[in-house]
Amino acid sequence: MSKPGIAFIGLGKMGVPMALNLLRAGHAVEGFDLNPQAASAFAGESGFHLAASALAAARRHAIIILMLPDSAVVDQLLWQAPDGLAAHLAAGTLLIDMGSSDPVRSRDNAARLQAQGVAFVDAPVSGGVKRAVDGSLAIMIGGAGDDVARAMPVLEAMGRTLVHVGQAGAGHAVKALNNYVSASGLVATCEALVAAEKFGVDPHRVNQVFNASTGKNNTTEHKVENFMLSGSFGSGFALALMRKDLQTARAFIERMGTAGDFAEECLDTWVRAEQALGPGADHTAMFKFIKGQ
Ligand code: NAD
Repeated sequence: MSKPGIAFIGLGKMGVPMALNLLRAGHAVEGFDLNPQAASAFAGESGFHLAASALAAARRHAIIILMLPDSAVVDQLLWQAPDGLAAHLAAGTLLIDMGSSDPVRSRDNAARLQAQGVAFVDAPVSGGVKRAVDGSLAIMIGGAGDDVARAMPVLEAMGRTLVHVGQAGAGHAVKALNNYVSASGLVATCEALVAAEKFGVDPHRVNQVFNASTGKNNTTEHKVENFMLSGSFGSGFALALMRKDLQTARAFIERMGTAGDFAEECLDTWVRAEQALGPGADHTAMFKFIKGQ
């Protein structure tokens, strides 16, 4: 049986390799991005079709994937008249939001869409561009059991560790919290490396020790050598997106009424770094910011 065609909206750093993996898995993909350059990545891909608009792509497929910057963009695309997608989607459509959106807004979107017979699954990802390219992303999934079961074969083309964490919005909650944990580890690592270097210890050696000790984390394992000490600052994940994720996590913790002092402190560091480094900075440039303080 042939695999379902998919409308894929948001062909940025993550969306392009994810859509390419859907093509590799045998899905036809109809893509759209506001950036007209986005389609150049699909040159020679016979299963790919560039749509004239998000609505044109979404109307033609029963499965729609969004890989957009944030909830503001998602909500505008869904609900803003006259071309808001939601008003035009047929009952039975499955919408999968794979960007790192706000969990509370996603839960609202799920309820509003469900009222018109459209299923919503949130399936944000972790692992960065590298794992998007090799199809080994971690995917945390929120949604009703039947809807998640329908999304699963599609998500399996893009990720390796797929965990259904709860109802709609739960995937986005876990994603924001994951990035809070990741971002705090990154800041701690940068502060430690800069202090050690000032004391005269080679930061490469320090990181070597961290990776063999209890300080090991995602930053020490994958970012310090490749993107920080090398000076490339080219992980492909923008600092502004990490700041957005931290704002989402902080707001979520606040809403839950649970302890969040450290999240507040962490967010403040990322906001100051973004102000100093500018909107185009990669998130690994946090090292440069901390070193320059
Ligand atoms: P990106 O900025 O490279 O891509 C986003 C794309 O969305 C851009 O190409 C932009 O032109 C497009 N876009 C914006 N508004 C649009 C609209 N209204 N219609 C159509 N296209 C529109 O960002 P990215 O790094 O690919 O991240 C996408 C999402 O995935 C974000 O939520 C981010 O937080 C999350 N994420 C990123 C990474 C990473 O390593 N880059 C990792 C995990 C999760």
